[in-house]
Amino acid sequence: MEYIDAHAHLNLEEFKDDFDAIAEKTKNDNVMVINVGTGEETSRFAVELAEKYEHMKSIVGLHPIYAAPSYDEKIGQEFNPDFYRGLLKNDTNKNIVAIGECGLDYFHGNDAGKEKQEKVFRKQIELAIEYDLPLMLHIRPSDGRYDAYEDMLDILRVYKVDNPGLTGDVHFFAGTIEIAQKFLDLGFYISFTGVITFAKQYEELVKFVPMDRILSETDAPYVAPVPFRGNRNEPSHVREVVKKIAEIKELDEDVVAEMIMQNARRLFNF
Ligand SMILES: [Zn+2]
Repeated sequence: MEYIDAHAHLNLEEFKDDFDAIAEKTKNDNVMVINVGTGEETSRFAVELAEKYEHMKSIVGLHPIYAAPSYDEKIGQEFNPDFYRGLLKNDTNKNIVAIGECGLDYFHGNDAGKEKQEKVFRKQIELAIEYDLPLMLHIRPSDGRYDAYEDMLDILRVYKVDNPGLTGDVHFFAGTIEIAQKFLDLGFYISFTGVITFAKQYEELVKFVPMDRILSETDAPYVAPVPFRGNRNEPSHVREVVKKIAEIKELDEDVVAEMIMQNARRLFNF
């Protein structure tokens, strides 16, 4: 495989009628896919997909908007480490490459929710440490602020003291250059979605993140890149993200694709 979609959701409802067809398509397009769980059922399905398809890996965990009050009906779920330990124990082929997506989402939440999210997030950090796996971080601040990024950095810094190997990817990064630097200092990677193909404000940020710490992702079915805006997104479109990174970095696309794949192999250990 030449390209990597480090964060996709073929395990969600939106693909229930054609995930096999999309899986075949990504294979033909030379795209490796990491499907990310958002709760127990979607995590289990992500693992099944990785068992079925050689060009797929999986990530298991509980999304912060399902951990605490939000707009969604599946609110307030508890994180049950034993469920995930069960998946990890059966994972003899090492198809599970990280814990997540987990983190803090202040955009959809409220104050009571914040506390609950943090509790659930800490349990997932501890599980990642127990299995020596990286984290797939979801961080969304409240409108017009960077609060969730700052809180996340505070939490991670404390864990890093006793667990210097703790690392991960900041999925769908939308912070500032200063915040990006702080995550890089902690040894984390930063991934970009199709948003960079149409939102000009990402240019400086993409330019800033070093080539050996950058990852490409789609977050499919969400945020399709140009020229697929308005459609359901799919992992094959990660090629547009890589193309845009190459353009901004003024490097050849195949060189960038190769470096990003190496980054993914280093971080996710496959
Ligand atoms: Zn996601």
